[in-house]
Amino acid sequence: MVNFSAPIERASRCVAICTFVLVAASCAVSTQQEVQMGASYAAQIDTQLPIVRDPLVVSYINALGNQLAKVADTRGLTWHFAVVDSKEVNAFAVPGGWIYVNRGLVERAQTMNQLAGVVGHEIGHVTLRHTVQQMQQSQEVNGGLMALCTLTKVCNSGAAQAGINLGGSAFFASFSRQDEAQADDQGVKNTVNAGIDPHGVPEMFRILLNERKTNPSAVDAWFATHPGEEDRITATTKQISLYPPAQLRNLQVDSDAFQRVKRRLLSLPPSPAPKPVGK
Ligand SMILES: [Zn+2]
Repeated sequence: MVNFSAPIERASRCVAICTFVLVAASCAVSTQQEVQMGASYAAQIDTQLPIVRDPLVVSYINALGNQLAKVADTRGLTWHFAVVDSKEVNAFAVPGGWIYVNRGLVERAQTMNQLAGVVGHEIGHVTLRHTVQQMQQSQEVNGGLMALCTLTKVCNSGAAQAGINLGGSAFFASFSRQDEAQADDQGVKNTVNAGIDPHGVPEMFRILLNERKTNPSAVDAWFATHPGEEDRITATTKQISLYPPAQLRNLQVDSDAFQRVKRRLLSLPPSPAPKPVGK
């Protein structure tokens, strides 16, 4: 998971210092610190994961993401959205406002509001500070510790050179079911507040559940990090039913821009094969 290329002694000194910092910092991470941590993660993600650079896709995911973030965020974060060039279905959030959606998920969404539901959910993990709390609670060297090493600069090059294994990292593995339920709740609210039809939230879950029956390996990562799908369909459907019908009537379900992006993604070369774990 982590490759310390510096002498072990120096690395363990770093871990000891950072463990202290982790405990000391666990009661309060300011928004500024959260953004610094997120930026550090995002820089590593950029080097370790293939990102779709097609301008149409980049501009669309940022437009849709910001449409949702601006109604959800009360801290004035600068948000960044990216499509990971992976056929695996997944999405994840990094503290401070970095949201990643896999190409496999965008391609499976049939309408704009289904993608918006997932993006709205991931935004919820950031605005509810699940991502930063998870980092604080993480005892994983390659998770919160690494970020704090970077943030506090108390660690030397051994930690700075450590790679985050995104495939197996505990940091990105999963939130609690309670966190997931809260993010779902935010996903519904964020879509409605952004003028987007919230039915896309349970619809996307349904699409992925159906895919699990026919092509389980494609959605493994999603189900590993987003448990309890049937319950979540029930909960979000109920939540939506509590809105006055008039409030939902004219919300946006789909858009030409979304369908253009889907066609563009489907026309791009296939996603690269996943990197071996730990590389
Ligand atoms: Zn989630």
